[in-house]
Amino acid sequence: MNAPARHLTIIGAGLAGALLGILLRRRGWDVDLYEKRGDPRVQGYGGGRSINLALAERGRHALRAADADDAVMRHAIMMRGRMVHVGDTEPVLQRYGRDDDEVIWSVHRGDLNIVLLDLAEAAGARLHFDAGLDSVNFDSRRAVFRDPRDRSTREVPFQALVGADGAGSALRAAMHRVHDLGQRSDFLDHGYKELEIPPRGDGGFRIEPNALHIWPRGHYMCIALPNDEKTFTVTLFLPHQAGADGGPAFDQLGDVDAARAFFERDFPSALALIPDFDRDWAGNPVGQLATLYLERWHLDGRAVLLGDAAHAMVPFHGQGMNCAFEDCVALAGHLDANADLATAFAAFEAERKPDAAAIQRMALDNYLEMRDRVDDADYLLQRELELALQDRHPGRFVPHYAMVTFMRIPYSLAMRRTDVQRGILERATAGHASLAALDWNAIDAEVLAQLTPLEDVPA
Ligand SMILES: Cc1cc2nc3c(=O)[nH]c(=O)nc-3n(C[C@H](O)[C@H](O)[C@H](O)COP(=O)(O)OP(=O)(O)OC[C@H]3O[C@@H](n4cnc5c(N)ncnc54)[C@H](O)[C@@H]3O)c2cc1C
Repeated sequence: MNAPARHLTIIGAGLAGALLGILLRRRGWDVDLYEKRGDPRVQGYGGGRSINLALAERGRHALRAADADDAVMRHAIMMRGRMVHVGDTEPVLQRYGRDDDEVIWSVHRGDLNIVLLDLAEAAGARLHFDAGLDSVNFDSRRAVFRDPRDRSTREVPFQALVGADGAGSALRAAMHRVHDLGQRSDFLDHGYKELEIPPRGDGGFRIEPNALHIWPRGHYMCIALPNDEKTFTVTLFLPHQAGADGGPAFDQLGDVDAARAFFERDFPSALALIPDFDRDWAGNPVGQLATLYLERWHLDGRAVLLGDAAHAMVPFHGQGMNCAFEDCVALAGHLDANADLATAFAAFEAERKPDAAAIQRMALDNYLEMRDRVDDADYLLQRELELALQDRHPGRFVPHYAMVTFMRIPYSLAMRRTDVQRGILERATAGHASLAALDWNAIDAEVLAQLTPLEDVPA
């Protein structure tokens, strides 16, 4: 058999790197995947952050393209909507969609990564663990990898590098040394810390499993996503430093007693579910959140970035991984369509950059919605109207969340339509406490004038 003519070296065998490895192998590419960490299948998953992730239609479509969806979904838990915990009242489910065909799925980052690594290896990708990219000579096309265990290095020739090495990408730094990528990072003034709700004594879930739980508290919040071992991962999002409003912040909660007192006051119902609060608080770090903006994602035909390495975003739309997976399908498609790597990489960047920018902005917008608005009367009325307009104008007025989460239309198109729809909702509900007295003729006319029918991208 002839050796495959085309070879790509992928940096990072995390979520996007492993998926891309499968997709490329199936197209006949020769693929090497280099990963800084050890093999999670041998030594357990040491991902170090966000234990579980919300998987939506964009991500599932990419997994289907790699025949990975069935294996991943065996570990997934359905989340029908947001279960909002306010005060002493019973939590209320706000459905994400119309029925159980419009839901999202909680998946464990480690399980997902392991499924994808197994499939990449089975497809013929060569996996190299404990091999962190250290430096690159783009002129001689040689890359140096370092084993973090003993600091030893090895030099490897390459045809082209694909950077799937996450927000702190070493490949991006190497590219930036030879060509200004126009990089800017906006750090959020909020960070996050993870805590765990264990199973009940009888082994079941302690709270409703088929929901994403939210405890909104204005400038901060807790969320909890289910895991298939019947636990929940709770994430507290909170400012790093106390501001002028005197609200709580991580810098005031350095010791466990202060943190416990804060939870007793603001999240008593969540605290009651976290028996090892002191251990989790002391043991888990505060994570940083940032949006990474890059003018340029590729270096002619020698290197290209995707996923978090190209466009890390804040996690409030649950789309970072979904977007990274969409990138993988898009890059594979451009490599199919263009024999010349520089042309393929440029076409990939041109297609995906506006969409990445759109979901980055929508993720920032969603933070305000989750922490501040989900229990607000204006918001709930607008949400009610949004659903009513969806029924009155099916396929034309499609709720924002549905466009991002249940469809695969470009994120940039979803953002443009969201802006138009938000204007309609705000104008129609201004000064109203219920939908009863709305001027439906005027609203319908506005919808028809401003929104064209919308079709999803065909499967
Ligand atoms: C708190 C939080 C919650 C989130 N929730 C969601 C969610 O619900 N839904 C969602 O879609 N997204 C979510 N995300 C975003 C998601 O985690 C990322 O978008 C996704 O992991 C990006 O995948 P990636 O493969 O590009 O990068 P990563 O998953 O970061 O993978 C990068 C890989 O590269 C390796 N690597 C790093 N440096 C090197 C090097 N020098 N050499 C070789 N290998 C290297 C790393 O070890 C890692 O395996 C969340 C993020 C956070 C922080």
